[in-house]
Amino acid sequence: MNIPLVDLAAQQVEVDDEVRAGLQEVFATTAFVGGPAVQRFEAAYAAALGVQHCVGVANGTDALELALRAAGVRPGDEVVLPANTFIATAEAASRIGAVPVPVDVDPRYLLMDPDAVRAAVGPRTGALVPVHLFGQVAPVEELLKIAADAGVPLVEDAAQSQGARRHGRPAGSFGLAAGTSFYPGKNLGAAGDAGAVTTDDADVARTVRVLAAHGSARRYEHELVGMNSRLDTVQAVVLEAKLRRLAGWNERRREAAARYGELLAGVEGVRVPTSAEGNEDVWHLYVVQVEERDRVLAALHAAGIGAGIHYPTPVHLTGAYAHLGLGRGAFPVAEAASGRILSLPLHPHLTVEQQETVVRTVAEALR
Ligand SMILES: *Cc1c(COP(=O)(O)O)cnc(C)c1O
Repeated sequence: MNIPLVDLAAQQVEVDDEVRAGLQEVFATTAFVGGPAVQRFEAAYAAALGVQHCVGVANGTDALELALRAAGVRPGDEVVLPANTFIATAEAASRIGAVPVPVDVDPRYLLMDPDAVRAAVGPRTGALVPVHLFGQVAPVEELLKIAADAGVPLVEDAAQSQGARRHGRPAGSFGLAAGTSFYPGKNLGAAGDAGAVTTDDADVARTVRVLAAHGSARRYEHELVGMNSRLDTVQAVVLEAKLRRLAGWNERRREAAARYGELLAGVEGVRVPTSAEGNEDVWHLYVVQVEERDRVLAALHAAGIGAGIHYPTPVHLTGAYAHLGLGRGAFPVAEAASGRILSLPLHPHLTVEQQETVVRTVAEALR
């Protein structure tokens, strides 16, 4: 690839010295599970989000499952989530034995549509799970109101939104709890799998901690049937170093997104993403919409440009969720968007020249 979708090597160069020093300490002290690095990162991430608690876990899917369980979601409960998301949002509900209830998204931002949520909420609803997709904060005020009226918790899927804000308040701090992912390609990415639950609720934090540690708060005293989902100490070292740079990296993402907006303004047939009023989005993905998307995507790949589709199939049309019985036509906005969306390379180290090459290639493909 001449122009990759994400550039993890460039990130690594910036943190290399800190990571090496931190790893040396981990190996010297053989603090392989838990230890000071995990505690330091949890405290730093909680502070960054302005929440009381951060519990590091093994990955983002576990984080969502644990957050939902701690929020009281039980087998058979319905969990309302957007049809346009990464499959993990639905998997987290399924793994509890709850039933994912996908709903349509709004045509402008492709985020969970509050009107659709209102229509989907019923007596069996156990939680609402908005996804801050592509680094855009979901319309939380409206969704929180729906959740409060229904008497159910709101649990954010904040896997794509580290550092994003709405009216100054960080994504991952709005709901009863939030699950996030530090998969390497996320805005804050580890050197492997990692995730976290953030919350202001001490009981939720404690339950997540207990569930993630084999259901025990004290060694060999098992109060719940839990699992093993720990934030790896090595990953905590990497995350600590990268968290210090996250605000700067997000700023560069915003600059690159603005520049794409300017460069693409002159290209007919391309709809560029914009931020909702009050949002400081962090552009985990920069998703444009074009007709004949597959032809444009092929042209980008032929030019060595790492464009992608996020996501080609809405949740309800995947094989995994065929059993929900929601066929084509169930969610027209999400379905139509899945044929037009195109993620252009966007990361903190993208250069102006690279962006110009991407836009030129898109323009030529559309001509
Ligand atoms: C990445 C991601 C997850 C899952 O995270 P993993 O760490 O891969 O388990 C969940 N939801 C969304 C929206 C994601 O992008």
